[in-house]
Amino acid sequence: MKTPPLPPGTLDRLPGLADLGRTATRLHPRPGAVGVRDSHVGGPLWWPADEPRPTCEHPYMVREEVPIPAELVDRMRAAEARRTVAHQLADGERELRDEIADLVGPGFTGWGSRDGGPMVGYRYVARPHPTPHPMLPVAQLRADDVPDLPRPGGADLLQVLWCPFEHQQTRSWGPTVSLHWRREAELTGVPTEPPTGEIGEIGNEVYRPRPCRLHPEQVVEYPYPEELPEELRGRVDDDYVSTFMMPGWKVGGYANWSVTDPHETPCPSCAGPTGLTLVVDSKEYDGGTRDRWRPVEEQHLEWADPERFDSQEPTGVQVGRWGALRIFTCPRCPDTPFLLDVQ
Ligand SMILES: [Zn+2]
Ligand SMILES: [Zn+2]
Repeated sequence: MKTPPLPPGTLDRLPGLADLGRTATRLHPRPGAVGVRDSHVGGPLWWPADEPRPTCEHPYMVREEVPIPAELVDRMRAAEARRTVAHQLADGERELRDEIADLVGPGFTGWGSRDGGPMVGYRYVARPHPTPHPMLPVAQLRADDVPDLPRPGGADLLQVLWCPFEHQQTRSWGPTVSLHWRREAELTGVPTEPPTGEIGEIGNEVYRPRPCRLHPEQVVEYPYPEELPEELRGRVDDDYVSTFMMPGWKVGGYANWSVTDPHETPCPSCAGPTGLTLVVDSKEYDGGTRDRWRPVEEQHLEWADPERFDSQEPTGVQVGRWGALRIFTCPRCPDTPFLLDVQ
């Protein structure tokens, strides 16, 4: 697939920016039949027959409901009725909110009622998986297909799996991830894929990727504004990010820090710099980026066309709040440690 070119003259308006260009491979996943040996999103993986599938033993977050006593609900309602301005808390309301939070306990996120039922408080608590949970294939990437894929230790194949539940991790809330770097030459025999039943329960359906074929394309992109040299940073306008930074699933390139400000991404082992290896994105483009980033082959799609969703949200995966999960890896350390960040 092909990304439309930058509009003529766009780069000339920011002298020096051209030198900071870096390629990334847009993966362009689209729903379709996938094979065990090709590059794709979703399963199956070219997995050594004698190697067990990785499992997750990290506690996952479960939403629990705690009943709120009727008399506390009554006091809350009475306090709300004393408000003089709609969104301004009345006297005593803050204390009542604290009382509910204390009642619900650690992990409190709020309260409400479903379908007019009794009022309940919500909390997220960490629970262990009853048994180690098999991880689900997310992507298989061959260096032959994905030119920007790192090759730590001469690897030419990356397999990405995750545990499809919410987990509280150092920097993100979402699936735990497992990366497997391999050499294709060392994969022998016919891989056997475990039946779907072995995957077990899916904690969150948006973590079950639809099988997608990839249509990789190398595109040049540019640093996030705050990572630009000072003299350039002052000259970027509101359209900079949507013009120069590619949305969607990609390998390599620069990280977009539009949701949080830029964070350091040190290697968990050596604390040295890591590189952006893979972005798992909830959408390939949106209303603000469709002209720039919707592939040439799909420019004809009408906004109301049902096919548009296969183009815009091909994998069905949603991370964060319609955001992206980014995997940063350290090329120097043994076993290629990695860091997750969700935007
Ligand atoms: Zn898990
Ligand atoms: Zn390192």
